[in-house]
Amino acid sequence: MDYPRPKGHRSISRRFSIFTVIVLLWVVLIALVWDLNHQILDWRKFVLLSGAVTGVAVAISRFSLRVLSRPLEMLERGMLKVGQGKLEPIQVSSTGDEIESLGVSFNRMISALAASQEQIRQHQELLEERIRARTAELEQAMQGAVVATNAKSEFLANMSHELRTPMNGLLGMLDLVLDGPIAGEDRENVEVAQRCAYSLLGLLNDILDLSKIESGRMQLERVPCNLREVIEECLRPQSAKAQQKGIALKYACESAVTVTGDPLRLRQIVNNLVSNGIKFTDAGSVSVTQSCTSPVEGKTVVCIEVADTGAGIPEDKLALIFDKFTQADSSISRKYGGTGLGLAITRRLIELQGGTIRVESEVGKGSRFIVEIPFDVVSEAELAVEPVVRALPSSPVAAGHARLLLVEDNAVNQRVVLAMLRKKGYVLEVANNGQEALEILARSSFDVVLMDVQMPVLDGLETTKAIRADARWKHLPVIAMTAHAMTGDKERCLSAGMDVYLTKPLKAPLLIETIEKYLLASVAA
Ligand code: ADP
Repeated sequence: MDYPRPKGHRSISRRFSIFTVIVLLWVVLIALVWDLNHQILDWRKFVLLSGAVTGVAVAISRFSLRVLSRPLEMLERGMLKVGQGKLEPIQVSSTGDEIESLGVSFNRMISALAASQEQIRQHQELLEERIRARTAELEQAMQGAVVATNAKSEFLANMSHELRTPMNGLLGMLDLVLDGPIAGEDRENVEVAQRCAYSLLGLLNDILDLSKIESGRMQLERVPCNLREVIEECLRPQSAKAQQKGIALKYACESAVTVTGDPLRLRQIVNNLVSNGIKFTDAGSVSVTQSCTSPVEGKTVVCIEVADTGAGIPEDKLALIFDKFTQADSSISRKYGGTGLGLAITRRLIELQGGTIRVESEVGKGSRFIVEIPFDVVSEAELAVEPVVRALPSSPVAAGHARLLLVEDNAVNQRVVLAMLRKKGYVLEVANNGQEALEILARSSFDVVLMDVQMPVLDGLETTKAIRADARWKHLPVIAMTAHAMTGDKERCLSAGMDVYLTKPLKAPLLIETIEKYLLASVAA
């Protein structure tokens, strides 16, 4: 077997033989010198002595080879195998001396090593088995958690929808009461009830949004939006709040641009930031600045900054305020109210659009929220294209005597819409579901249909498809009214053949304005 030898290696038996030969040669040499001095040199005796010296040297060499070198070589070979990981007993020469005891000790050591290695192997197997079992448990727990999260989101979405329906009734009724001749303390009390109902609705919308984002069901619209108009629309209602608090609300549009995006979600982002700015500022101003980078290959990065001179946010809380249900200072938040959902939703909406939000703030001096979102720019040429407009009704109608068909299964909602529209002098008929609506339509003619979407027997989408399939009602205006404020619902309603889409809670002025628009268009036609 080949095994490495250190440099300058020489076997013990060889050294031993050389040493013996030198000693004996020295003795022979002394004898030779003695004989020469006494002039009694006998060459025969000299040759004989040399032969004897050589014989003794060979004998010593063989002897040392047998008792020293070979047993040591055996040990060396065995040790080499151990070094290569083969923990087997090594061959030991039975010389009955220290070398044999050394070999026996090595063998004892090797069996102890083998035993401990076996223990380690068993332990390793046990550990691996445990890791496998734990990983399987974790995977199971993870699947459970995913199912639970989905169930939670589904539950929240359903609950929010179910809660919105009675909320619509409540808000509609409160609107109607406030529209009437109520005065004094009663009016104030109902106004408080209305404010509470609206903030409850805001909370429901937040929860609905968060659950939609978390379950990955939030879809963004992609329509042209003029950023200046979108931001101005947000600021108009907010300026009244700012005025009430005696603070200035400023807007600087550094670059007007029309981009492809979701105006509803953009408005929600700006609204959240501006209403927080106003909420947490007692003196000074809230300023909104919009700018964008010059377009490269049809893309631009829009930057919206909302800065206030309000309470500010402690540095250690800056990273937390974007987490849901987190408020920087519970005492301040108690004073101003809020749930801690606004910024969590805002950040997720921004990230859904591939953007970022960051905040700079100093306690007592104010805060600055900086939003950056990449958008596709809508070119002048694209803007010039006329939108496709659905054909409007052809029979002229006197608005005051217009005949409206309300298709709605919920009794409270029926009451709300009837009360909103009765004052206008419309002639209203009610169908409790789509099937009933088709039967009523077949009996008499109507100028506008107000269509709920979720209904038993035949829902709003199927009913509208049936209406459009009949030549008599091809151009009959159908106005969708739904508590489903989900993106995608609007598209479903429009592709089913509905003309326009209104979300509940309905606001009387918008509903009436929409109806009038269709009635007037039919008069003009
Ligand atoms: P909410 O305002 O409903 O509590 P948000 O998620 O909108 O929830 O805000 C989270 C927290 O961040 C707030 O409670 C407040 O502590 C802090 N915050 C947000 N905007 C501002 C601001 N402009 N100035 C001071 N603190 C703010």
